[in-house]
Amino acid sequence: MPHIVKNTTVFNPLDWLAPHSCRGCGRIGDVLCDCCKKNITLNFLDICPNCKTQKASGFCPKCADLPACYTLGIREGILAALIHDFKYNSVRAIGVKLAELMSERLPDLPPNSRIVPLPTATHHIRERGFDHTYFVAKRIASLKHIKAAKLFIRTANTVQVGADKTTRLAQAEHAFEINPKMEINQDTTYILFDDVWTTGASMKSALKKLRKAGAHKIIIALLATSSLD
Ligand SMILES: [Zn+2]
Ligand SMILES: [Zn+2]
Repeated sequence: MPHIVKNTTVFNPLDWLAPHSCRGCGRIGDVLCDCCKKNITLNFLDICPNCKTQKASGFCPKCADLPACYTLGIREGILAALIHDFKYNSVRAIGVKLAELMSERLPDLPPNSRIVPLPTATHHIRERGFDHTYFVAKRIASLKHIKAAKLFIRTANTVQVGADKTTRLAQAEHAFEINPKMEINQDTTYILFDDVWTTGASMKSALKKLRKAGAHKIIIALLATSSLD
């Protein structure tokens, strides 16, 4: 199969100069106008990304092995448009906006908390020109007055898109490890952060590794969860 290189990801410096338009209503000025932002924040759904049931803040009684999980919503409508333009068209202003939304979504966090981005495949970073998950994680950290920490290092560069669920789970298990140079502290709250929960394979694998390394206080933060169907 020929290797296909996508050509949609080159960072355009004009992105900073040209006026932005709202991904919800098209109004010129910002990537998300206040009105469309309210549409997201007022509809923050407490939905378990794993079993898709609605639940009381953060926790899912059915998926007891998962920690509290905060997401902006289901990947559809405005949220899907924002995430898509950020990831595939590298619109950094959207990353800044998504971080703002995520920091409003998260509860107050102890000052020693660390936001831990799940690692992005290096060829994606090369294609997109930057590590989009870390980009948002750093901004959430700054808004919450905590730090971002890259605890994981990639051990494989397998791509998840298109792989079936079983393959994804197996790949995720070996895709990254905790950087042995990083110290895991049981009094620190770790916020595992990723953009979208699709099968949850990467997140579950990260959770398992972080727990095994001795972390006791973990929560999950996701920009979006996959659609309900
Ligand atoms: Zn709007
Ligand atoms: Zn659940």
